[in-house]
Amino acid sequence: MKWQNWGRTESAAPAHEPTPSSVEEIAQIVTTAAKSGRTVKTAGAGHSFSGIAVPGDTLLRLSNLRGLIGVEGNRATFRAGTHLYEIPALLAPYQLAMANLGDIDKQTIAGATSTGTHGTGLNFGGISTQIAGIELVDGVGEVRTITEGPELQAAALGLGSLGVITAITLECVPAFSIEAVEGPAKIGDVLADLDRSINETDHFEFYWFPHTEAALTKHNRRLPADVPASGPSKLRRYIDDELLSNHMLAGVCRAAALAPVIVPAVNEVSGNALSHRTIVAPSTEVFVSDRNVRFREMEYAIPLNSLAEAFDGVRKVIDDKGYRVSFPIEVRVAAADDLMLSTASGRKSAYIAVHRYYRDKPDNYFRDVEAVMTKLGGRPHWGKMHTRDADYFRSVYPRFDEFLAVRDRFDPNRVFANDYLRTVLGD
Ligand SMILES: Cc1cc2nc3c(=O)[nH]c(=O)nc-3n(C[C@H](O)[C@H](O)[C@H](O)COP(=O)(O)OP(=O)(O)OC[C@H]3O[C@@H](n4cnc5c(N)ncnc54)[C@H](O)[C@@H]3O)c2cc1C
Repeated sequence: MKWQNWGRTESAAPAHEPTPSSVEEIAQIVTTAAKSGRTVKTAGAGHSFSGIAVPGDTLLRLSNLRGLIGVEGNRATFRAGTHLYEIPALLAPYQLAMANLGDIDKQTIAGATSTGTHGTGLNFGGISTQIAGIELVDGVGEVRTITEGPELQAAALGLGSLGVITAITLECVPAFSIEAVEGPAKIGDVLADLDRSINETDHFEFYWFPHTEAALTKHNRRLPADVPASGPSKLRRYIDDELLSNHMLAGVCRAAALAPVIVPAVNEVSGNALSHRTIVAPSTEVFVSDRNVRFREMEYAIPLNSLAEAFDGVRKVIDDKGYRVSFPIEVRVAAADDLMLSTASGRKSAYIAVHRYYRDKPDNYFRDVEAVMTKLGGRPHWGKMHTRDADYFRSVYPRFDEFLAVRDRFDPNRVFANDYLRTVLGD
């Protein structure tokens, strides 16, 4: 197998793996594939858990298309293969930053935005909402530059179905720092205070340790960039995050995979081992952490006002079905946006993410949680595991058919199709 994803849920052996260095080369590859009835899939960093990135015949690698093309005002244009972790240093000379980020920065900018990668914060959309322009090679080999209107609302979060994205322009913000207040809490208190935390915190999220009353909350407040850094040093944070959190979690997951019966007791210890800390640091350092324990994930967006019901539903599934879940459950929020296939399209949203250690024995935990979410009109993250199809998506995305019409124009021969896209968008 030449290609496999990070979560070890998908693998493939494409016949061709070109590494083009120019837009013209990409156009040539797509044109040739279209004429001979072959498919082309563009590789990101392989961090999607779903089958969205699985290649067929040709896997295009954009490792030669990385870096900053230019900056105008607050708008910065990147080659599509640029990894998120490369962006802070590229923006530093301009004192700019990305407005919001998810938990990690290993993804490419095109891969992250193509699946709707998001962080948290009721006044902030996912990364795709930061897109002001896109250049892509469509399914007949034409180079399109898209800067506004419905085509941008489709292409900024296009599931890799509209073309090979070659450049992305981001609307950035002046560089900023964040004060992060993190600490343990009782889940009852977190839920009682949820509205206030969500509405009054720039970026609020919490984790709940299943089978226990233990939770971890993160309240992040945006500050001007010149507020001096404070709190535990980078080294101390590395020790806390890497050696304590990641290594402890790895040990817990390995043991729990062998003996699930110990999970509640172990989660009790893990949930109570956390300590309070307050950090002031540049935004990227706070948003991004390392995730070194390999897992599988499903995440659903539900309307914000359904969060309490959805969360109760997940707890009930775990209790009633007797699942043993070693991974904390993550809850985040996002602003409504106007992108056709964004999980937060047209509605303020909450996200509930459930995980399984990659060596856990398969069971129906995700399926049962999914049933809770779909009853509430939930929309699954495009890059995470789910079992939904085009009929379902048509029922929860009012602009679904509008997106399909754009796809028909951009990729009439389905050069960019794979099994996943056939399932979620139809043929
Ligand atoms: C440890 C971990 C943590 C995560 N944390 C978060 C999080 O906090 N928030 C969140 O929302 N998600 C999160 N995710 C999910 C992840 O952000 C998404 O799945 C994202 O798409 C992965 O980006 P990638 O570069 O690996 O893309 P891939 O998974 O490689 O590809 C995703 C899609 O993008 C397409 N694509 C890539 N490049 C191009 C291009 N140039 N043109 C056209 N299409 C292209 C691919 O063909 C594919 O369809 C996490 C995943 C992992 C493994």
